[in-house]
Amino acid sequence: MAGLYFHIPFCKQACTYCDFHFSTNRSNEDEMISAMVKELELRSSDWRTQHFETIYFGGGSPSILNKGQLHRLLEAAYKHLRVDSNAEISMEANPDDMSKDKLQEWRTLGISRLSVGLQSFQNKRLTWMNRAHNAEEALACVKRAQDIGFNNISIDLIYGLPTSTLEEWREELAIAKSMNVQHFSAYILTVEERTALHHQVKKGSVKPAPDEMVEDQYNYLCSWAKENGFEHYEISNFAQKGYRSKHNGNYWNWVDYLGVGPAAHSFHNKQRSWNIAHNINYIKKLSEAVLPAHGEALSKADEFNETIMLGLRKTEGINVALLNSNYLAFLGEDALLSKERLSDRHLAMLSIEDGIWKMKELDWLLCDEVSAALFYSA
Ligand code: SF4
Repeated sequence: MAGLYFHIPFCKQACTYCDFHFSTNRSNEDEMISAMVKELELRSSDWRTQHFETIYFGGGSPSILNKGQLHRLLEAAYKHLRVDSNAEISMEANPDDMSKDKLQEWRTLGISRLSVGLQSFQNKRLTWMNRAHNAEEALACVKRAQDIGFNNISIDLIYGLPTSTLEEWREELAIAKSMNVQHFSAYILTVEERTALHHQVKKGSVKPAPDEMVEDQYNYLCSWAKENGFEHYEISNFAQKGYRSKHNGNYWNWVDYLGVGPAAHSFHNKQRSWNIAHNINYIKKLSEAVLPAHGEALSKADEFNETIMLGLRKTEGINVALLNSNYLAFLGEDALLSKERLSDRHLAMLSIEDGIWKMKELDWLLCDEVSAALFYSA
């Protein structure tokens, strides 16, 4: 079982908060697709025995590609890899790209799931984020996709925006409810380095939302999701029954994945690799049939720590007895998880039942802090 990820490194414009790899120079889109096809071909011999049950177009903005470009990538996937006939094929889509024609093309290509970057339904917020779409497009695009036959749709929303209020967040979620989607992801706005937002915060023109406001919005989100039949299955992800994201679930469950495109990461046989985050150099390397990647094998300590981090992010939590028995021989007694390793404050954030440790929902935002307290360091 494995997943395939295509990183499409182009966007129409740069959103204020975004630190993903992308370029707004789209003049070499076709060369990029050729390079990605080449990368897939070069890597395929390592992946022949794997069954791919998900394909994910992410980025960047995959929805800006035309039908021919998407077709070339899918054709290469089916030619070089063993893709399940009922694979989940997801596309990250921006509202301004979701015309009737494009949506129909995506259906024809076999795309079965859309992850729509709505972020907000208010023009003042969308403009502040420098999104390429407006509120009208945000409101119309999901219905248009549903009318065309998409029945597995996720939407992305951002909360914890500067100066935002609980009332404003309630209104955003009320609109989201009216869309009848199967899944949604809600992310707290974070200030990443090397972004326009970071610059604005540094010079003082923007003040991040206070922690208490972010917490209030998170708490409301959790109760709203429950009332509306969504399972909160990962810190930022909520699904109706049967509609969890298979592709992202694989990342959190140690399933191998092949990432194609600049800045894409792969995970295979406990080895991680990552491609260079530079469009021109990526294309150049592949034109010379050289893989533009670096890699590392995970140490037992890395594996142990990642199991903790990934486990606490999910509703399934960590099976402590299993984890301890798997790593005792490699890391020794001192690494083992036990309640004594945690402060009373951290312990109070966990629910512990039948040897499974889970973050309590209302403390979930502090999961990195609890994970770090449990990490093994030599
Ligand atoms: S569209 Fe997505 S990837 Fe592109 S700049 Fe905006 S948030 Fe980043």
